[in-house]
Order: sequence, then structure tokens, then C-alpha cells
Amino acid sequence: MPSLFPSQTALGYAKVAVERGVDRYPDGLTYAIPPELADLRSGERVMVPLGRGDTTAGGCIISISRETDLDPDRIKFIRGRDASSAKLPGDLIELARWISNYYCAPIGMTLAAMLPAAVKRNIGAVTKTMLDLGNPLPLEVKLPPKQRAVLEALASLPPEKRPIELSALRELAGLKTNSPIRRLLDRKLLDQQQRSTVEATWAQHATDDFRPDSLTAKQQQIIDKIISTLDKGFSSHLLYGVTGSGKTEIYIRLIERVIQAGKTALMLVPEISLTPQTGGRLIGRFADHRVAILHSGLTSAQRHQQWALVANGGAHIILGARSAIFAPVPGGKIGLIIVDEEHDGSYKQDQAPRYHGRDVAIRRAQLAGCPIILGSATPSLESWHNATENGKYALHILDERAPGLRLPTVKVVDFAEQARAHHDRKVHLLGPMLEGAIGRTLETGGQILLLLNRRGYANYIACPDQTCGWVMTCDHCDVTTVYHKSKRLATGGFVQCHHCLTEQRLPSQCPDCANKVTTFGLGTQRVEEEITNKFPELVTGQTMLRIDSDTMHGAKSFHDALERFGRGDIRLMLGTQMIAKGLDFPGVRLVGVINADTALNLPDFRAAERTFQLVSQVAGRCGRGDQPGLAIVQTFNPGVPAIRLAAAHAYTEFAEIELSERRQCNLPPYSRMARIVVRDAELMKCIAIGKRLAEGLRSLADDSQRIRGPAPCPIARLSDRHRQQVEILATNASSLQSLLASARSAGMIQPGASMAVDVDPTTML
Ligand code: ADP
Ligand code: ZN
Ligand code: ZN
Repeated sequence: MPSLFPSQTALGYAKVAVERGVDRYPDGLTYAIPPELADLRSGERVMVPLGRGDTTAGGCIISISRETDLDPDRIKFIRGRDASSAKLPGDLIELARWISNYYCAPIGMTLAAMLPAAVKRNIGAVTKTMLDLGNPLPLEVKLPPKQRAVLEALASLPPEKRPIELSALRELAGLKTNSPIRRLLDRKLLDQQQRSTVEATWAQHATDDFRPDSLTAKQQQIIDKIISTLDKGFSSHLLYGVTGSGKTEIYIRLIERVIQAGKTALMLVPEISLTPQTGGRLIGRFADHRVAILHSGLTSAQRHQQWALVANGGAHIILGARSAIFAPVPGGKIGLIIVDEEHDGSYKQDQAPRYHGRDVAIRRAQLAGCPIILGSATPSLESWHNATENGKYALHILDERAPGLRLPTVKVVDFAEQARAHHDRKVHLLGPMLEGAIGRTLETGGQILLLLNRRGYANYIACPDQTCGWVMTCDHCDVTTVYHKSKRLATGGFVQCHHCLTEQRLPSQCPDCANKVTTFGLGTQRVEEEITNKFPELVTGQTMLRIDSDTMHGAKSFHDALERFGRGDIRLMLGTQMIAKGLDFPGVRLVGVINADTALNLPDFRAAERTFQLVSQVAGRCGRGDQPGLAIVQTFNPGVPAIRLAAAHAYTEFAEIELSERRQCNLPPYSRMARIVVRDAELMKCIAIGKRLAEGLRSLADDSQRIRGPAPCPIARLSDRHRQQVEILATNASSLQSLLASARSAGMIQPGASMAVDVDPTTML
């Protein structure tokens, strides 16, 4: 075949991970570098021709070489750099390779996921002309006054203020036009350079700069231990500290050390737009340092600006949610990585690449050769196992709250018993105990948080006739639908599927037997209704707020709500897990969990662990002021260890019980799991694909791996596609990885639209 571009000669070859590329080329596709792109480096983004039609596609260069084993005449040329000037540092490319391997995701897609869309699209970037003094002015030359004024204005600037932007110089020299400056440039008496910056209006503010005078002995001990590892390469630490025990204070002191040593600290928090207080506190305590914040609540230009700040080495601290682990810190600069609330489910990405932010953070710390701290009041059992049973992590414990603070009293109440105590036939979501406590807290001036992990009004719409048994389900998914009230609609409400978000009208009668349908079950709207009935002094929107994704539109409305709560205007906040995380308001004296069982009954081996975490975390939101806190937990299962032990603040005991069950059942952390979900619009085809996959995997498996399935997923149909799952359980990570790798190279596993591969899955639905 003749050369595609006979007139060009290649300066070398680049392996490009094409974003839209398939999974077959883990090392990227080979392209030739044209002479005009001689300065291309790995990590840069380029446009390349792809496929038969040579359509233009974006990708990232992962390596560059002089030679190639391929036929040079058949190699296509890179078309050019893409619109962004983004360049990934080498350790991120290394990290992408690891993620692509470990989580079975195509390399191009993985690299693309590392860059925020705003960076790729170069949003907010502007190019400025910067000017400085050029050649010295020859003595014999007499300049016109305006040109002279320009040179004098420049010369009078201190060196750190130069070069200066064109418009600023014009103003400084009192000019109306650019022409004197242009003359000077022509005569080389001025130098010019183009500088590209990202501009964004920025509103981040400190919420708190309180610094305790002294640390507790335990805090100091832990800090000393971790400081002694700071320059010693990779090490991993688990900081288990009850809520309010001063973990954040430890992070802050360590970050101070890291900055003093001229390095950058990277701190991950769960979905930070939901935990704005941590950001405000870091900014407050590091007022003289540059804190870069990376999260989904920023505008595109802000995100790009923060990314560029990090890439230019300008950030001392980087704070962000899961994807901040891909912050482009220049090589060798990371001194410490912190993963706060390491147990949190939001660290796991639920789309490909399905990585776990905590585990990627560990890998990044290894590549950076720095310590990593995982912190939590309720460590994941994986991390606890690594810290206690196999000694992979150093364990540090803070088992008391910070000086002056006490852990709240947690009372577990039996929902069934409470319901009977009301002596009427109405449905009460607030039992007498919780109702009484709300009344007393309002009277004595305290604030209240109420948690119910389910939005809407009622999560069952059904026929009241038990022999009929009709329950309303989604037309597109095998799940029940949720009734939402709405004042906007003439019908008073609508029915929504919480999985595909399809909305329908509420049917007036049962389609099978024409009975009038009833709605029952729990939802935040219904609790809100009951509260306004029982406590008329609370006015929705003024002294009471409901916080869920129906009432909150974006990070801003949530931040505003928190601000009003912080000021004390709002007395009671009712919400989904949005209010269970990280909030620190000293006025909160009562926390109520409407129903602790929402997570307990899910078909997931982590159901008990989740329930323990939820109850402990939400109870931890109270008693952070000078008054003691009370948490009331309503449940139909008062005896289960997850609830009983969370109430007793007995994490270690819970971990021991739960781990022994996991060991008996050979579940993670005592094994490693991968879950492969196949999806198809046709049920029979879906089952056939699942069978073929399971058989293929069984033919490759050895004694250390067990294949389960195919079986329908707990949600067997989602958005009109049937779902079958195949699970791999392996005795350890390397056994799992070797099976996945052979299945992948044999073409059995093809991650894509019809097959989702989830390594170390955290949800099993
Ligand atoms: P955690 O991160 O474990 O929830 P924090 O670091 O937020 O705990 O500490 C809880 C509260 O106690 C904060 O208001 C913090 O300023 C305060 N605090 C932390 N350490 C001390 C200390 N040594 N002395 C006094 N107050 C402290
Ligand atoms: Zn649906
Ligand atoms: Zn019926």
C-alpha cells in the first residue's frame, strides 16, 4: 500500500490512547509525528485520524519512540494538538495504565476520565500579551515622549511585577493607543510573549480558622509517628477516630509540615460539594497558602482554573472529591495524600472506569513515594482488616472526642412498639419518643437533624386488596415506583421510578380489580407533612427545611441551606444522606433516624456494614457544642448488631463480628470479587451471553477462583434492558487479576455498552 502522506517524513512515533478507542490496544495506537509537532511530549492531548473514514478523534500520548516495528508507510500522522493545552504528568499516565489493567477499562477512556471536561474544552482560557524591557536603548537614540514614557514606566516597576500585560502597561504610561508600544516592539526595545491563563470569577471563603491551643497527647503521638514517615517513601496509615475526635486537626498539622518542606498535600473528601465545611476550614487555616479545590459544584471555568493552578505547581493543598486523585501535580511534588471518610461509598465511581478513589489514592501514593492516611470514624472492613489482621497499614486510634466534647447518647427504639404506643390507627413516622424529644429540643433552643434515606412521599403504590396483590412497578425497570406529592400539578402528585427517573401519573384504580389504589411506605415528604402537623410552629422554608435532591438544585442551594442552618434561622433540617455526612454544627442537640432499616434489607453483603456506618455517622452530627447530644434511632430490628453496636459506639466489636461472618462465607475482605453484568433488550439473548461468559470463565479458572452465575441481577431489568450477572470470587487480588487478564485477552470480557465489569464492587443491585 502506498504511503498515506508521501510528502511527509515522520520524526518519530507516538502511542496514542484514543478516547473512543476499543479495549484491544492497552498500549495505545501508533501514529507518526509530523515535523511541525517535533516538540510533542507524552501526556499531551492530540487529534488523530481514526478508522476507515479517518474521522478525527482525540487522545492522549502515552509514549514516544524513534522507531517502530510496524510498516512506516501504513502509519497515519497525528493531525495536531487538540484545543486544550493540557498535559498529564508521567505518574498519572502510569496510574492510568494501572487503573486500565486493574479495573478492566480501556486505556483511552481511563485517561479521558482523568481530565475534567472543562480542561479538555479549554473553557475560560485567555491568551494575554505580556511585555518587558527589550534591548538596551542606544545612547544616541532620542525617543518620542510617548515611547520614552513607556520605557520609563516599565523600568520603574519592581522586577517581580514584570512582564506586564499590554493593557496594564498602556495605562501605566498614560497612553490612549497601542501605537507607541508597537513602535518599541518593532525596534526591539520591548520584548513580548504570549501567556495563556484561565480566568474564572471565584468565590470561596473561609468558614472557620479556629486553632486549638494545644493538641491532646494522643493527637500529638499520632502526628509525631506520621511525621517520622514523611520523607521515607511510601507508607500507609489508618486513622480510626470517633466522630469529632480531632482527625481533621491531625490532617491540618501534617499538611503544615508538608508545605514547610516545599511539597503539596492532596486531600480527598467524599463528594465535597456536600461537605463544604471541610473546604472552608482548610482555607481558613491556610489563609497564606494556595488551596486548590476540585469538585463538581464549580463552574467549568473555575474547574479549569483550579486544574491549571495545580498543573503549574501553584497549589500547596489540593482538596477535592474522588476525581481529585487525578490532580496533575508536577512530578515529585506530592508529599502526603489523605483520604478522609475513607469508608464512604461515593469514592467508588459507578461508571467505567469503575475505580475506587481510595484504592487509586493508595496506588498514587506508591508512585509518588509518599505516605497516605486513610481516616474514618467507621473504617471500611477492608481497611480495618488491612490494619489489624494483615498489618498492611499502621493503625492509629483516637477513641475519645476532642476536649470539651462528648459522644452523644444514642437510644434505639423499636418502631413496632412505638407505633402501638400512639393508640390511634394513623400512621406515625415519628414515634412518641422522637416526637417528645423534638418538642423538648425546640423548647430549649436546640437544633435538630432528621434523617430518612428515601425521598418522595411513599415508596409503595398498591392495591389494598390482599388477594389481588397488585403493586405498581416501573414500565422500564423491575422496581417499585415512588409517589411524589407536588403542588405544581393539578393532580397533586406524580409517580417516579428512582432508577430511570421516568414519571407517570398516579392511577386512580387498580388495573387488575378496579379497587382504589393506596400509597404507603416512607419518604421525606411524608415526614415533612407529619412534622408540620405535629409542630405547627415549624414553617417549611423558614424554620424547617427538607434537604433532598428534589428540593436542592445544585451545590449552591445546599450551601445556602447550610448557611441558614448555621446561623440558627432553620431549627429543623430533614433530609436524605445528604445531611448524614461531615456536618459540624454546634447547635445540633438532637438527631433522629426515622428508619435505620432502609439499607439493612438490601440484597448486598455489605448491608450491615452500611447500616452501622450510617447510624454512627448521623449520630455523630450532634453534641458538637457545649450541650450534650441525643440521637434517637427508630428501627424494626433493634437487636441486630449493626444497630445495637452503632448505638453503643462499639466499632471494634462490630468489626470483629462482621469480619468473622465474612470469613465464614469467604466474602471480601477474605476474598476478592469482580462482578460482570451483561445487558440486553432481549431476555433470552441476555441469558445466553451470560451463560457463554460464565462457561468461558470456568474454562479458564483454577482452584483459587470460583465463578457464580449467570443469575438475574437483584434489579433484573433497568431502562428496558435485562441484566444478568456473573461473579468471580478469588482467594486474593492477584488470582482475580490473572483470571480477568486472561479473559480479557481472550476477548471474553469486552467492557462496553452491553457488558459492565466491576472489580471490587461496592453495590450489588
Ligand atoms: P473529626 O475530624 O475527628 O470529626 P475535628 O478535627 O473536626 O474532628 O475536631 C472536632 C472539634 O474539636 C473541632 O471543632 C476542632 O476544632 C476541635 N478540636 C480538635 N482538636 C482539639 C484539641 N486538641 N483541643 C481542643 N479542641 C480540639
Ligand atoms: Zn425505571
Ligand atoms: Zn387489585
